[in-house]
Amino acid sequence: IDLKNEDLKDLHELGQGNGGSVKKVEHIPTGKIMAKKIVLIDAKPSVRKQILRELHIMHDCDSKYIISFYGAYLADPNICICMEFMDKGSLDGIYKKIGAIDIEVVGKVALAVLEGLTYLYDVHRIIHRDIKPSNILCNSQGEIKICDFGVSGELINSIADTFVGTSTYMSPERIQGAQYTVKSDVWSLGISLIELALGRFPFSESLSDDSDLSDFESTLSPARPGSMNSFAALGLPPARPRRPAAEKAKKDKRKSKGVSLQGGGMTMSILELLQHIVNEPAPRLSGFPEPAEAFVDSCLLKDPDQRKTPKDLLKDEWIVEARLSPFDLQAWANTF
Ligand code: ADP
Ligand code: MG
Repeated sequence: IDLKNEDLKDLHELGQGNGGSVKKVEHIPTGKIMAKKIVLIDAKPSVRKQILRELHIMHDCDSKYIISFYGAYLADPNICICMEFMDKGSLDGIYKKIGAIDIEVVGKVALAVLEGLTYLYDVHRIIHRDIKPSNILCNSQGEIKICDFGVSGELINSIADTFVGTSTYMSPERIQGAQYTVKSDVWSLGISLIELALGRFPFSESLSDDSDLSDFESTLSPARPGSMNSFAALGLPPARPRRPAAEKAKKDKRKSKGVSLQGGGMTMSILELLQHIVNEPAPRLSGFPEPAEAFVDSCLLKDPDQRKTPKDLLKDEWIVEARLSPFDLQAWANTF
């Protein structure tokens, strides 16, 4: 379809992320419901056109584990990306609503994400780069699909100029400035699976008393050039004692997005977290079936050389089990 902004009627907002928002819209001429992602891009017209060309690859992505792409267009300072609407939303929203996710469902999520990552890499040589519960979507047919993968190098650059892509789902090697590989996505999957199974972000008790550190992704200010790489090059600061209770008062403030690197105490907490990810043993699942725990352990091997690729992990015992499991995801998705 040839999408034009004037043909899309806004229904309501689905959520906001870094550098943009997502709205549920109706394409009036066809009646089709879509999700429209609006990304503010401060780039030259030539770069913006390049981004649009790069996004075109998404038309060729055809997998039941990947969100369908309907089209993208420029709307003055923004780029609008129209995609399949998933009526049950993202998995972060789901666990925040219903609590910790049943481990059977978590197994199905792992399978879907591995299938999606394997498809993107084998067929298109695309590395996702942003696996986290908010980029894993579910619909009332019980389908699980991934979205927001790094198709456009120019888009990644443009966003990186504004928001440093510092995510708390980032692997130790990425924090230290190494190249992205498919194995970095596997680490992010491991963290995401623990979060879903526990119903909370896994690092939330390893540092201070913040309950929602996952909100700190992409919070560094553009004042530091070169983004994450120079950040790593600066060296992580030495460990600091936990913040005094008085700092607790700032907690609500910190929940708002876009805290700057030059800010006060909160900034250290993301640095502390990144340092923790690099220096401390990886988090683990415990009290779950052994194959689930073993799978998560293999995603969270700190040495990327030891970590398997998504394709190899499709052969993992727990994943094979998840594939065979008769668990009814459609029935599950209709319980909330
Ligand atoms: P983030 O992924 O960091 O939360 P985004 O801007 O990518 O930020 O998305 C904001 C929210 O919009 C997501 O958390 C998700 O719940 C919702 N969303 C994104 N894409 C879709 C979609 N295709 N269908 C339904 N909801 C979506
Ligand atoms: Mg997203």
